[in-house]
Amino acid sequence: MRFAGGINRPHYETADGYLQTTEGCSHNHCLFCTYFKNQKFKKSTLAEIEADIREIPEYFGAPKRIFLQGADGFAADYDVLMKTAELLRKYVPSVESIGGYARIDNFYDKTEDQLRNLAAVGYADPYIGVESGDDTVLKRINKGYTASQAREVLEKIEASGLPFIVNFLNGAGGHGGGPANARLTATLYEGLHPTMINTSMLTVVPGTPLYRAVEKGLYTESTEKEKLEELHEFVRCLTNDTIFMNEHASNLFHVKCRIPEAKEELLASIKKLTEESDETELRRYREMITRAF
Ligand code: SF4
Repeated sequence: MRFAGGINRPHYETADGYLQTTEGCSHNHCLFCTYFKNQKFKKSTLAEIEADIREIPEYFGAPKRIFLQGADGFAADYDVLMKTAELLRKYVPSVESIGGYARIDNFYDKTEDQLRNLAAVGYADPYIGVESGDDTVLKRINKGYTASQAREVLEKIEASGLPFIVNFLNGAGGHGGGPANARLTATLYEGLHPTMINTSMLTVVPGTPLYRAVEKGLYTESTEKEKLEELHEFVRCLTNDTIFMNEHASNLFHVKCRIPEAKEELLASIKKLTEESDETELRRYREMITRAF
């Protein structure tokens, strides 16, 4: 099977099979990102996808779920995604659903009806790295879209019935920008029903454009405690009925819970951690994590 960039997926997708509908990242310009830097973006041809699908049983047995590889497998064209689902039904009938990472702009060229069709053939829970609802932050980290474009796409996805997951990049607001980033991102998600809201914490990794911006004094990172305060504000402002998860390694603590049921308990835990932790200790964890990226 072809996996141009190795296997990349959220930790909870470990039991799945994998398939490459795209290679690399269709954007590849987020300033904090360390992934796919040496890969040119490419959409797989249908012939390549079919050849890979035929090999899935040999590599992954009878997976129930396929997680598309590449930074944003949903950048594949609608027709290709539909044909992919058809070929999976033919060669790997055990597959019940298909997920993958996605960018907001992967959905610009897909209509609500097309998204409904994708949901009907098994696509579910694309993990969308929305990251922020704050235009200043989106521009600063060069995500390539605005909050209103993100909202429009998320509303379209929701109206189509395609279940989806969103991420919040905790700390992207930088020093002093956390509260606004938290509130505007919670506002972006207001009234939507994602299967899950994930958070990860910004880690400024040497070699990235954001690291160079820090060195030049153009961007000041949040302290670790500021990140926790930003997270507290984000959770406080969330009005969604969903699963909250911050189990990515970049986070200073890990939890998966249902909100609003566990919201007060979660807020109390974040507050306690913020008050009782030592910035130097937290920073040590950040530096250790930096080496892992
Ligand atoms: S969309 Fe994702 S993979 Fe692509 S540059 Fe941004 S963070 Fe990196």
